[in-house]
Amino acid sequence: MSTEQVLNKALGAYLGFACGDALGATVEFMTPKQIQKRHGVHRDMIGGGWLALEAGQVTDDTQMSLALGQAIIDHQGWNIRAVADNFVAWLESDPPDIGNTCRRGITRYRDSGELFGLPRDDDAGNGACMRNLPVALATLNRPDYFNEWSLQQSHITHNHPLSNAATLTLGRMVNQLINGQDIDTCKQEAEQLISQYGEFAYKPYPGKASAYIVDTMQTVLHYFFSTDSFESCLIATVNQGADADTTGALVGMLAGAKYGIEQIPERWLARLDQQVVEQIRQQTTGLIRLAGLL
Ligand code: MN
Ligand code: MN
Repeated sequence: MSTEQVLNKALGAYLGFACGDALGATVEFMTPKQIQKRHGVHRDMIGGGWLALEAGQVTDDTQMSLALGQAIIDHQGWNIRAVADNFVAWLESDPPDIGNTCRRGITRYRDSGELFGLPRDDDAGNGACMRNLPVALATLNRPDYFNEWSLQQSHITHNHPLSNAATLTLGRMVNQLINGQDIDTCKQEAEQLISQYGEFAYKPYPGKASAYIVDTMQTVLHYFFSTDSFESCLIATVNQGADADTTGALVGMLAGAKYGIEQIPERWLARLDQQVVEQIRQQTTGLIRLAGLL
């Protein structure tokens, strides 16, 4: 892969992530039937939804990723306290939405300085997994750093084996796709996850797309592996409803890394919050450079 190709796929992943967030947020917490009744097939970035968003506005998924990415860039490497501090600043910026587990973990850090929560059964939401892309980009082709940084940032809010496993799996898949490897490599990665934790099995697809990391992963894997373009992949995923902004973001990350930025529909890129687009462009370059690939 040339550096140009790596940058294209990395940018595809990050912008694809934000597109999935902005597209899916409109139908977050809806059922597929409700979506169909209201939108037919939901395919445009029109905002609205339970958060009453502007068209192209992103939510906590993208905002937390940007907070994490900025901490890495500002410190030119890993500084877990800077990551946690950025999460606190974000929490206090009155964001449109924030998951309960994220709020609990960030508040604990803010009030006690305690970076990591103890393992909890109810930490198996997708909130740590959803924000890990900047770590994957900054540690491309350095699996030791990737594992360590990923788990550290996760444990600020989520300390659960299923969250850990899914977060590492998706990051490895992004790494492989950015390196130009094919879908079979990703399927093997998914099989490895399932051999370790059978609950992630996604065939036949159970049709649940909640914020429980197992439901989220099954949805992301099912639609990523059963579609053949960036656009069809995101549309199929978000029309499954439930945690549609997060499943949309995660599948957009994989599809963007696979198909590259040229497959992201122009109508979505043009509608996406342009300040976010600019931040993503800057962070992607900075993170890839940190990985030693520019
Ligand atoms: Mn969200
Ligand atoms: Mn969500």
